[in-house]
Amino acid sequence: MTTSADAPRLADTHLWPIEVTPNDALVPAGRRAEILANPGFGQHYTDHMVRATWTEGEGWHDAELVPYQPLTFDPATNFLHYGQAIFEGLKAYKHADGSIWLFRPLKNATRFNNSARRLAMAELPAELFIASIAALVSADRDWTPSGAEASLYLRPFMLGTERGLGVRPSREYQYLLIASPAGAYFSKGIHPVTVWLSDDYVRAAPGGTGEAKCAGNYAASLVAQAEAAQHGCDQVVWLDAAEHRWIEEMGGMNLYFVYGSGDQARIMTPSLTGALLPGVTRDSLLTVAQDLGIRAEEGRISVEEWKAGCASREITEVFACGTAAVVTPVGEVKSRMGNWTVGNGGAGEVTMRLRQALLDIQTGAVPDKHAWMHKIIDAD
Ligand SMILES: *Cc1c(COP(=O)(O)O)cnc(C)c1O
Repeated sequence: MTTSADAPRLADTHLWPIEVTPNDALVPAGRRAEILANPGFGQHYTDHMVRATWTEGEGWHDAELVPYQPLTFDPATNFLHYGQAIFEGLKAYKHADGSIWLFRPLKNATRFNNSARRLAMAELPAELFIASIAALVSADRDWTPSGAEASLYLRPFMLGTERGLGVRPSREYQYLLIASPAGAYFSKGIHPVTVWLSDDYVRAAPGGTGEAKCAGNYAASLVAQAEAAQHGCDQVVWLDAAEHRWIEEMGGMNLYFVYGSGDQARIMTPSLTGALLPGVTRDSLLTVAQDLGIRAEEGRISVEEWKAGCASREITEVFACGTAAVVTPVGEVKSRMGNWTVGNGGAGEVTMRLRQALLDIQTGAVPDKHAWMHKIIDAD
């Protein structure tokens, strides 16, 4: 097992024991091959899942890999009413030699616990987080697609599972992990998205849950996403809660602004004010940019500055980034302050260079000089 440069370090991630109950009704190999030929995103699930239980006094116990199956809960279960529900998203990549790797998984393990703390939930040891992924990817390794930009998407999540309608933190939690084969996010090539700047709705406010990857944030975002669609936009861009002026994020992705071009290009991403979700992709691109000789910084940008910057051509490109879609160009902006085009409305050169550089690390096409990759399955 390679160690990662990301704290916390794990001495041996296999330390957490996971009991295995194999599925005796696997998806037939022919059907699996059919799915893997065109997996889409989040539509198909593998043969197994992992679950573990936390109870007050006992802590985490009964970590097991079992056949993928429905969950059963009492109608008065905590999370169904009060929303103690958090999740993570990361991918397993199959390299050319057949080995399977994760990208900075300890970042996800740490963020999962930050989310847990914010929602007054039990924290999960990083050893269990990584061991659960290793167990599931190992059992379902044949579900890892190997095409360009394909991966096995992993969805760890945790629910407050105590029964009772009293409003207080649950005294029982279930941790679950499922996996879904994912193809290239853009099946028809990379298309810049059109965004709607949301004035009516905010995603997060200071002191709120914006930094946590909790289910409720997504529920609260859907009406704004629908409003964006009504304005003919693909995605919603969130502004700060106090002034509705400062750019925060796009949907479930962080944003980057590109200033200048060629040797003079530099990139800026909005600072983590507490209302933004600290993306692993966002953080990685700050470093990848520097590797490419592109100055990268955190800062802030207002709606007026975005509009004026595009008009003066000082802002040349804008892109969004996140695990699922990697890097997505933003071509067009619509808002109550007017509509404008970013650059020539297409996928910019800096955007595509950064995208490729990150993918090259994740897919093992270039040396992993930052020790970001974490091997979970050895070469064939
Ligand atoms: C998950 C998420 C991101 C992206 O995070 P990554 O770790 O890069 O996948 C950005 N914004 C929001 C709101 C998210 O939920």
